[in-house]
Amino acid sequence: MAKLWSPLVENLEPYVPGEQPKVKNLIKLNTNENPYPPSPKVNEVVSEDEIAALRLYPDPDSSRLKQTIASYHGIQKDQVFVGNGSDEVLAHSFVAFFKQGSAIQFPKVSYSFYPVYANLFEIETNTKGLKKDFSVDVDAFTQPNGGVIFPNPNAPTGICLPLSDIRRLLAENTESVVIIDEAYIDFGGESAVSLIDEFKNLLVIQTLSKSRSLAGLRIGFAMGNANLIEALDRVKNSFNSYPLDRLAEVAAVASFEDETYFKSCCDSIIDTREWTVEQLLNKGFDVLPSKTNFVFAKPNHDSAKNVFNRLRSNDVLVRYFDKPGLNDYLRISIGTPKEMETFIQVLNAL
Ligand code: PMP
Repeated sequence: MAKLWSPLVENLEPYVPGEQPKVKNLIKLNTNENPYPPSPKVNEVVSEDEIAALRLYPDPDSSRLKQTIASYHGIQKDQVFVGNGSDEVLAHSFVAFFKQGSAIQFPKVSYSFYPVYANLFEIETNTKGLKKDFSVDVDAFTQPNGGVIFPNPNAPTGICLPLSDIRRLLAENTESVVIIDEAYIDFGGESAVSLIDEFKNLLVIQTLSKSRSLAGLRIGFAMGNANLIEALDRVKNSFNSYPLDRLAEVAAVASFEDETYFKSCCDSIIDTREWTVEQLLNKGFDVLPSKTNFVFAKPNHDSAKNVFNRLRSNDVLVRYFDKPGLNDYLRISIGTPKEMETFIQVLNAL
């Protein structure tokens, strides 16, 4: 193959997103999407007038959405940053806070985009092993560091740390920015957003992709001290002044205005998750305790790879990570009750 133009790019190992198959008949449990559609209020706001307004640039400050998120979380608008999916918010955060010339710390097993950003932005990394029970070891993060980041709940394990652990970590790490990636917080975890006034170096990142069924619109946001948000705005404005398109912004606002629908979707997913865990335990799987919309489970009767392949040939797609430490497990997103029943039936018939 022809050489790429820069040695940095030549050596990049990009993130490989989960498969988005073109065929429709699959039970798709591989990328932690929400099995339910977005709130019906989203349909109402994507009106003819909104479509006509697409000739105009969007509000570069996404003011309406920031105010909506601020009111929802009981914080100030200048404590909110929004971006094109939390992936983009994370990328800006790496540039804004982690390019300090010293290594950032994150768990060895966590969101696989972190090492990709670190390489892209030439940031050193120092990864920390999980505890024996697969939970994140907050006491392993030691000062000095160039920043700390981890998902809570963690991915792909699904395990959530209590707020008391996050507080302990923050009390020990006051000299660099600590990012808690809460992509899955709405499925039973306790958000660290309540700590942002107390810890000026804490940035909490969330997304509308999972609990609000808007993965296709790409909306993520960060919450923290106004000073952290200003830093993110500077980076964003040096990259793309319009992070959110007009439709994404109105849809996101509508979604936050439908609390009843949001709560009922999350509750259904939590109930279905608990049912799925019970079924997998009955079948002899090891299942990690999940506070997310997926479960991380180890088959004991066959290898995870075989089970993955055999499910795939029966039109059920789950996620298999071909990496040491993860390759005994399958990550199974929680679908509708009907999808999960079919999944269990297929498993039973393998
Ligand atoms: N953080 C974690 C831990 C994730 O698993 C994901 C989803 N792949 C993201 C962030 C990014 O989500 P999005 O860009 O859709 O907001």
